[in-house]
Amino acid sequence: MVAMVVRSGIVEPEPAGWSSVRLALRELWHEMRHPTPRAVRYMGCDGCGQVTSHSSDQRLYTLRVAERGVTAPPPKAVCDECGHAQPRAMGDEILADVPVTCAGRRHRRIRAGRSRRRCGQVFAAPAAATVVACPWCSTVQPGPAAVPSRSS
Ligand SMILES: [Zn+2]
Ligand SMILES: [Zn+2]
Repeated sequence: MVAMVVRSGIVEPEPAGWSSVRLALRELWHEMRHPTPRAVRYMGCDGCGQVTSHSSDQRLYTLRVAERGVTAPPPKAVCDECGHAQPRAMGDEILADVPVTCAGRRHRRIRAGRSRRRCGQVFAAPAAATVVACPWCSTVQPGPAAVPSRSS
């Protein structure tokens, strides 16, 4: 049994004036210094039959000239491994629960291309994933279930 205590009559003081401005500035500063990772979804791919990252969307617009209309179906998720686009379905995302250390290189801040510094970010991926994409540097790399191509 969980007892919930609801206190009444206590009014929380609103952050007014400068304190809220300072808070917003701090959030902006934090956002600039710590960029948020992009969303990477993991799904069982219909194209290659593997669990892969689907980090981009594809949307096909159909122009119907006669009816002067444009139909835009829901975006399809594109496989990072084989480029197969598949429609989204309820519960198609696979839970990412295994930590993976990124082996990619960071993006340069000013010039285009990759810097020589390793990304090294740890992100979560499903244990069944053969291909994963780093949400920080977008590097597509072998996942926890990847079969080593070279036999040692
Ligand atoms: Zn695929
Ligand atoms: Zn990375």
